[in-house]
Amino acid sequence: MASDNKVITVSGVRPTGRQHLGNYFGAVKNFVGMQDSYTGYFFVADYHSLTTHPNAADLREKSKNIALIYLACGLDPDKCALYLQSDVQQIPELYLIFNMHAYLGELEREATFKEKVRSQPNNVNAGLLTYPVLMTVDIIIHKAHKVPVGKDQQQHVEMSRDFVRRFNNFYGVNYFPEPVPFSFSDTLMNIPSLDGEGKMSKSKPEYTCIYLEDTPDQIRKKIMRMPSDSGPTEPNSAKPPFIQNIFDLMALVSSTETIQHFNDQYNQCNIRYGDLKKQLAEDMVAYLSPIRQKIEELSANESKVYEILGDGASKARASAAQTLRDVREIIGFKNF
Ligand code: AMP
Repeated sequence: MASDNKVITVSGVRPTGRQHLGNYFGAVKNFVGMQDSYTGYFFVADYHSLTTHPNAADLREKSKNIALIYLACGLDPDKCALYLQSDVQQIPELYLIFNMHAYLGELEREATFKEKVRSQPNNVNAGLLTYPVLMTVDIIIHKAHKVPVGKDQQQHVEMSRDFVRRFNNFYGVNYFPEPVPFSFSDTLMNIPSLDGEGKMSKSKPEYTCIYLEDTPDQIRKKIMRMPSDSGPTEPNSAKPPFIQNIFDLMALVSSTETIQHFNDQYNQCNIRYGDLKKQLAEDMVAYLSPIRQKIEELSANESKVYEILGDGASKARASAAQTLRDVREIIGFKNF
C-alpha cells in the first residue's frame, strides 16, 4: 500500500464504549479527510482495550461496532486499510522490542497512567503502564508519520517521538519517521463534555456525551440540559466556559451566519439561551442524521463489515511484516 510515495498515516479508536462527538471530530473525521491523499491505516484498538479486562462477547461486539462506525462516517476500504489491531500479530513482537527502550520513570510520569492509578487502583496492570509503547508500535509498524488524534492524545504522540528517536539513535539508523499529531483544524480538537466539566469522554455519564447513534430526540434532550445562566449584563463581555462550550459545539455543525447571529445577540445582551440551544440541537441532528442512517444500513449487513476487516488485515499485515523484517535485521536478529 505504501508504494505510491504518499505520506503514511495511522490512527485507531479503542472499542471500549460508544463513539461520541469527540471521537468523530478528534479522530474519525480526519481519517476520512486524509484517505485520498495519504496512505491510511485505520484500526480498532482491541489490544489496548484489554487493559480494562472486557469479556469476549462484549469485545467482539464493540470492535465490530467501531469498524461499522468508521465505515458509516465515510472511510472507504478501497482507499485505506481498515483492520482490527489484534489481526496484526507483528504488533506484539515489535511491542516487546520497544519495551526494552522504554523506562519505568517516564512511563509512570505519563498523565493518563497517573489518572488510571487514581481511578482504578485495583487494576493497575503492566499493560496500562506500557500503553504509550503499544501506541508507538501501532504507528511505526507502518512507518507512519502523521497521526490524526484529539488533544488528549498529544502527550502520547510526543512520547512516541521520543521512543522512535531513541531507537534510531541507539542503532545509528534513520529508519522510523518521527510521528507528529495531525488535525485539519488549526489546533488539535478538544470536544467539551455537555456538563461543562472537561472533555467529552466514554468514561463520563451518558447525558454528557452525544453519541453518533443517538436519535434526534436524545440529542435534543441532551443539548437542552446543557448548563447556562441568566445571560450577560455588560455588552461584549467574555463568555463563561459553559456558554463558550455551546458556541464551540455550534462552530462544528452550524452555519457561519447562525453563529454570527447568536454572537451578536450575546454581545448585545439580548441572547435567549433556550433559542441558542434549540438551534444547536437542530443543527446537530441535521449533521448527524446521515451518519446514523448509514450505521443502521450497515448494521443489517455485518458480514460485509467482517469481509472489509479481513481485507484490511491482509494489507496491514503485509506492511507490518516488512517493517518487522527490517527491524530484526537492524537489531541483529536473523531472519530465516
Ligand atoms: P478513545 O475513545 O480514547 O479511544 O479515543 C479515540 C480518539 O478520539 C483519539 O484520537 C482521541 O484523541 C479522540 N478523542 C476522544 N475524546 C475526544 C474529545 N473529547 N475531543 C477530541 N478528541 C477526542
